[in-house]
Amino acid sequence: MQALSKNFFLFLSNNSALDRMAKKWGPKFGANQIVGGETFEEAVPLIQQLNNQGLQLTVDHLGEFVTSEAEAVKRTQECIDAIKTIHSHQLNSQVSLKLTSLGLDIRKDLVWDNMEKIMEEAARLDVTVTIDMEDSTRTQQTLDIYKGLKNKYPNLGTVIQSYLYRSTDDLEDLSPYDPYLRLVKGAYKEPGTVAFTEKAQVDENLKKLIKQNLLNGHYTAVASHDDAIIDFTKLFARNNNIPKDQFEFQMLYGMRNQTQLDLIQEGYKVRVYLPYGTDWYGYFMRRLAERPANVAFAIKGIFKK
Ligand SMILES: Cc1cc2nc3c(=O)[nH]c(=O)nc-3n(C[C@H](O)[C@H](O)[C@H](O)COP(=O)(O)OP(=O)(O)OC[C@H]3O[C@@H](n4cnc5c(N)ncnc54)[C@H](O)[C@@H]3O)c2cc1C
Repeated sequence: MQALSKNFFLFLSNNSALDRMAKKWGPKFGANQIVGGETFEEAVPLIQQLNNQGLQLTVDHLGEFVTSEAEAVKRTQECIDAIKTIHSHQLNSQVSLKLTSLGLDIRKDLVWDNMEKIMEEAARLDVTVTIDMEDSTRTQQTLDIYKGLKNKYPNLGTVIQSYLYRSTDDLEDLSPYDPYLRLVKGAYKEPGTVAFTEKAQVDENLKKLIKQNLLNGHYTAVASHDDAIIDFTKLFARNNNIPKDQFEFQMLYGMRNQTQLDLIQEGYKVRVYLPYGTDWYGYFMRRLAERPANVAFAIKGIFKK
């Protein structure tokens, strides 16, 4: 049943007619429970409300693959505008971005130019930027760009995925850069040649990476909704005298809301990943595919205005 509904939502996520209709409707059917709005300006009151609850944010402009230079330049400008809005509204928020949206698949010098422009503005206005990690064919390029920019722009982070065999080595390789790393299990479909295929192995490797990065003395963002990972991090930090300001938990907006607030109450830092933009449809369907329990609020959303 679970596999069936997963395939059903993945099938819907690739339906371009529904995607076009979704852009016309705006976030509906419960999507506004996990998406911040169609524009960043629209998401500002929500970010302020979350900040007031003690949550920190990272915002991500939703978008499917970018195939033209003009679109990549437009996306770059959108990131810069988001950085400016964060600064002008004094929001406690970072920016997350994907290198494919800045032209990674188009031209190498294009993505470098675009990243430099974003990072100059981010440095000027003191906003941290995290490069999301995409599929394994782009891991090396992403880490090369990260290493190329990190020394010049200290407020730059990226992501390591525990399902990849290479990640323990990548963590050591990044150590001299005093990296700001988000550690995740990994969201893409990867072959057994590059990634663990058993969930238990992916979970164990995430614990290993969390340990490794914390013991290396680096700030660590543990991005998971999994209680086993959250409890492991808390216990490991406590037993090894790792201060609470050396790590944070990250969760997607709309997932485990009560857990986010409970962690704040316990004195931990929590950052919420808030997507926004008109391309909400694919993101929404993929989250439903990942966790069909989310269907409950989606169905409730159909009957709400
Ligand atoms: C802030 C953030 C940023 C991310 N960035 C990236 C990225 O750049 N690149 C990338 O590849 N991936 C990224 N991911 C996705 C990540 O790799 C995983 O695919 C995703 O987080 C699912 O793994 P999990 O550890 O949350 O829990 P899972 O392994 O999916 O679930 C484990 C258990 O956690 C609990 N659980 C999970 N979800 C929920 C929920 N919604 N409500 C209640 N309980 C739940 C359940 O008990 C479940 O059995 C990101 C995730 C987050 C949270």
